[in-house]
Amino acid sequence: QAKRAGTHDVVVYQPGMLDRRADDAALGEDLEEAVSSGQLRVLYQPMVDLSSGRPVGAEALVRWHHPLRGIVSPLDFIPIAERTGAITGVGLYVLEQACRMVQTWAGHPYVSVNLSARQLQDPTLVGSVRTVLDRTALPPDRLVLEITESAIVDDRVALPALEALRAHGIRIAIDDFGTGYSSLQYLSRLPVDILKIDRSFVAELDNTGRGSAITEAVISLARILDMTTVAEGIETPAQAAELQRLGCRTGQGYLYAKPLAADDAEQYFTHPQRVLLPPPMTSPSSK
Ligand code: C2E
Ligand code: MG
Ligand code: MG
Ligand code: MG
Repeated sequence: QAKRAGTHDVVVYQPGMLDRRADDAALGEDLEEAVSSGQLRVLYQPMVDLSSGRPVGAEALVRWHHPLRGIVSPLDFIPIAERTGAITGVGLYVLEQACRMVQTWAGHPYVSVNLSARQLQDPTLVGSVRTVLDRTALPPDRLVLEITESAIVDDRVALPALEALRAHGIRIAIDDFGTGYSSLQYLSRLPVDILKIDRSFVAELDNTGRGSAITEAVISLARILDMTTVAEGIETPAQAAELQRLGCRTGQGYLYAKPLAADDAEQYFTHPQRVLLPPPMTSPSSK
């Protein structure tokens, strides 16, 4: 009998669940091939200035086009890649693609690339990132690296790496901010430029109340620490309006654009209004 774990979480036993480990191992082996045989595709989700709706950057989001399984989500294969070590190759592939692509788009946007915990612990990371920037000739101020709070497993390794990347002119963002457990004191010591407000808080902005209070707190915290904020997962004009009212200037989400294939992203940056007209931003009246 499946047990109710909470209002929304019902544990359902599906056939094949027990094969999960064997399945992961098989995927792990396939992953070795994925990079070399060109099965990884990088999508780009535009990040926009909330007041004008104009794109200012894009987040690189990887997909695996598996020959037998079809499109595999990064949520399913990044954890496996971390365990097997394939993440090094996957990560560098995404980084290099992203650095090349962003230079072909109009308006000098930046590109934001996700880094996993294991990459951050890799002593060769800083050198590899610099090599990619040199090879692609991307100015470092057009690269943002996103890490999660929990990715800083060992700060004796992670902090110097982040410092070195930043000294080189690359910006660092904390992804899914608010879902980890960093203390404020710890956060204030982190060499970070941007806090990305997690989608779960943005989703709450429609109902005002707790979600709004947390988002407001994150935005003031960022201001105090001399960081900026980017909101993720904006789906409604009401959320966008509330974020602006609270002082967040940049965001991304289905309201503006889904993650786009490189060609579509190029079109988007050339003619944003033709691909997806941003909704008129009525300046929110005071509450
Ligand atoms: P993330 O970095 O927090 O990326 C945001 C996720 O939210 C993406 O899912 C994106 O498609 C989705 N999203 C964007 N706008 C909306 C929206 O309006 N509503 C909703 N419901 N979702 C939205 P995706 O592409 O499936 O990626 C999932 C996660 O996988 C990412 O979360 C990131 O942690 C990881 N990931 C993706 N690409 C890479 C990569 O190249 N390297 C590493 N290390 N991790 C990656
Ligand atoms: Mg991210
Ligand atoms: Mg995120
Ligand atoms: Mg997220």
